[in-house]
Amino acid sequence: MIPFNKPHATGREHGYIQQAIDGGHLSGNGPFDRRCGAWLEERIGCRRALLTSSGTAALEMAILLMGVGPGDEVVMPSFTFVTSASAVALRGATPVFVDVRPDTLNLDERAVADAITDRTRAIMPVHYAGVGCAMPELGALAEKHGLYVVEDAAHGILSSYDERPLGSFGELGCLSFHETKNVTCGEGGALLINDEALVDRAEIVQEKGTDRSRFNRGEVDRYTWVDLGSSFVASEINSAFLWAQLEEADRITADRMRVWQAYHERLEPLEQAGLLRRPQIPPQARHNAHMYHVLLPDRDRRDALIAAMATRGVQAVFHYVPLHSSPAGLRHGRVDGPLPVTDDVSGRLVRLPLWADLGEREVELVAGAVEEALAMGVGAV
Ligand SMILES: *Cc1c(COP(=O)(O)O)cnc(C)c1O
Repeated sequence: MIPFNKPHATGREHGYIQQAIDGGHLSGNGPFDRRCGAWLEERIGCRRALLTSSGTAALEMAILLMGVGPGDEVVMPSFTFVTSASAVALRGATPVFVDVRPDTLNLDERAVADAITDRTRAIMPVHYAGVGCAMPELGALAEKHGLYVVEDAAHGILSSYDERPLGSFGELGCLSFHETKNVTCGEGGALLINDEALVDRAEIVQEKGTDRSRFNRGEVDRYTWVDLGSSFVASEINSAFLWAQLEEADRITADRMRVWQAYHERLEPLEQAGLLRRPQIPPQARHNAHMYHVLLPDRDRRDALIAAMATRGVQAVFHYVPLHSSPAGLRHGRVDGPLPVTDDVSGRLVRLPLWADLGEREVELVAGAVEEALAMGVGAV
């Protein structure tokens, strides 16, 4: 069976974890945490990068930091992971779901403009598949209405738009290091802070609402509860694992890109035959091969393809079930207008196996299985 995902290990993870154990510092803010943070700050060009226990924790920190609360709204795509929205709903605020663009499946900037009200506090672009959203347009909208931009860049490490790294556009950005992401430590994330004015409070929010970070630096002689916060810090064991991956992040991305390109070339004739649609990458976006997805003509053929791939030993999977029509989305969110693209593409999308160590032969096997299933008319398989 070719699995959908297989987390990559660089081989140095064990050694670094042993180093952390030997160093006797296993909670947060240790040497590996600082190394990872500095790497992210340099590569992304953010003012500060704080490692968190998950991408979800980074999103929750971001919403807390912006002071978003009851009565406030945050505009985001319905076509995203649950926690983009739950981070907002947990503060008693309302996620406002809008449609995505048919090409990138990213937030539709025109739909965002329509959804802004006097309750809107922030826009949350989600860089689907590591392909950047139209950040200049979204940034202009935010500026015009005095809104924060918080990027859900969970897919987006080492991607850029207009040659600027994803996660560096908004006041805040969030990364995920979950097992399914390009660079991983099992569970982990980072909050990227681009707005200098938010840095001090970000440290407090991350440290359970205390000024412990200042205490650690010797700036105060004891620490105390000063604001709202929670336990968002990453364990040094995870940071040690993550450091092994960040050191190799460029190579991991290049390996994934080889797989992505191979699929893209191999599936071109199927697109020309009108059997599927390949990912569409705008010229401004340089992506990180986080995902390879194709769109089938309709839901039945999509479901049949997934089943046909399984019988050929390939695990292909669907993706986001739209949040605007989910049980909790209906309870906690607001929908702005009909979302025809979201409703349509979520039923037609298939993701193919993509991981750094996927070999040429396996890529050929996957692409061959797609080709064979479609040639037979997947309904009949
Ligand atoms: C993975 C992901 C998250 C959450 O990250 P975790 O580290 O799993 O908590 C949030 N948003 C998007 C778009 C994601 O893909």
